[in-house]
Amino acid sequence: MADDRFHVYDTTLRDGAQQEGLNLTVADKLAIARHLDSLGVGFIEGGWPGANPKDTEFFRRARTELDLRHAQLAAFGATRRAGVKAADDPLVAALRESGAPVVTLVAKSHDRHVELALRTSLQENLAMIRDTVSHLRAEGQRVFLDAEHFFDGYKSNPAYALEVVRTAAEAGASVIALCDTNGGMLPDELAEVVQAAAGTSARIGIHCHDDTGCAVANTLAAVKAGATHVQGCANGYGERSGNANLFTVVANLQLKRGFDLVPREALAEMTRIAHAITEVTNVTPNSHAPYVGVSAFAHKAGLHASAIKVDPNLYQHIDPAEVGNDMRMLVSDMAGRASVELKGRELGYDLSADTSRELVNRVKDLESKGYTFEAADASFELLLRDTVAGERRRHFQVESWRVIVERTRGGELVSEATVKLYAKGERIVATGEGNGPVNALDRAVRMGLERLYPELAEVELIDFKVRILEGTHGTDAVTRVLITSSDAAGEWSTVGVDENIIEASWQALEQAVTYGLLRAGHVAE
Ligand SMILES: [Zn+2]
Repeated sequence: MADDRFHVYDTTLRDGAQQEGLNLTVADKLAIARHLDSLGVGFIEGGWPGANPKDTEFFRRARTELDLRHAQLAAFGATRRAGVKAADDPLVAALRESGAPVVTLVAKSHDRHVELALRTSLQENLAMIRDTVSHLRAEGQRVFLDAEHFFDGYKSNPAYALEVVRTAAEAGASVIALCDTNGGMLPDELAEVVQAAAGTSARIGIHCHDDTGCAVANTLAAVKAGATHVQGCANGYGERSGNANLFTVVANLQLKRGFDLVPREALAEMTRIAHAITEVTNVTPNSHAPYVGVSAFAHKAGLHASAIKVDPNLYQHIDPAEVGNDMRMLVSDMAGRASVELKGRELGYDLSADTSRELVNRVKDLESKGYTFEAADASFELLLRDTVAGERRRHFQVESWRVIVERTRGGELVSEATVKLYAKGERIVATGEGNGPVNALDRAVRMGLERLYPELAEVELIDFKVRILEGTHGTDAVTRVLITSSDAAGEWSTVGVDENIIEASWQALEQAVTYGLLRAGHVAE
């Protein structure tokens, strides 16, 4: 189990799950818990057993299905209701029976919330905290307290807010986490309040929301002011603007402040873990996320390219490998020869001066027509290979294609595509149906080639983006299509541009299949 001196406490499964559009099944929660454990967090808050049947089931299944190596599970719940004993409150019983070694109790620390939301007296609220904490402690659980609306409460009535902290600590709560529930704080004022709370000699934790864009900065400020327990969510999930991004917090504290929070090898898996969690949540990963985003170490080189070639560390704040990310060069019309050479080297090619000059000219020419290679690495690599080979090499040649879109009498729209191809010396005619013309073309191509290249069954078209580019200098508008495909090992993107959207899609599709075959180890003819 993790060192107790400093806590990394994840609340993705409870507070993070409040994010709009996020809907986690029990199996999803178990999968996310395993990923967080492999990162080495100390605590995973699983949910609110008793109040939410799914969360009750999570704790029940966790007992047999979760084999945590680093983390302890925490059950979240409220202090007892006013006017009853903690021992007699069924919701407190559910926390006791959850089997979680830790219970995190949420309590009011803002006087107005006690009176208006809880509708009880300030004294009874303190009694509820004292009674519930000591009851659970006596039953053998460790207790943390989330002091809700603490910072706003401190502004309203500082003496009462601090009294809540003192009461919980005296009753046996081992951490009092101060919550910026409304997320409105800024680092300097937050730090002053944390310092005041730390003066009560209770152990202080911090729980921040990102409504001012300062959740991570506030968390770091709290740590500097004395907090030794940080809460946050994977990928910054959470309601409104989200919670403090736990990955950013951990990377900052460990790499910039010298804290020893998670094993080094686990930190080097952070990018993979962050993406694996997005696979479970089905939330598109934020490509600009600090440390773990696809673009976090991507350089649109231009001016800097030649210097990056000499020393990449001049242009990045850490070695991306420390968090399992990579430096990436973007090929754009800003770029010159140096960045094309760098990109080539990244892909494993040592380009001669002539080849890279020709490649730069081709990239510039295509970009002037509306292509973009920044988001289409696979198209760039095909262009590079063709340039190196001095000819266009493909696994199959296209004779023709045709798509029909029909609105049936029943009002249903059906697309049917026919492709005529040559591959491995054969002429192939194949037909595919789909819910749209591109889907039908995709099926027809696979249908035609799968017998010769069975690996294509693994290739899947996972994203399709269309953008209309305004015409310039009297030319017509053109359509740019970006297709992202995947196989068991990863993803790649290809681009096509034409005045006709289906032709643009076809270009991207044809390259997507070609690149998939290259990945599978087939040499183009
Ligand atoms: Zn919260």
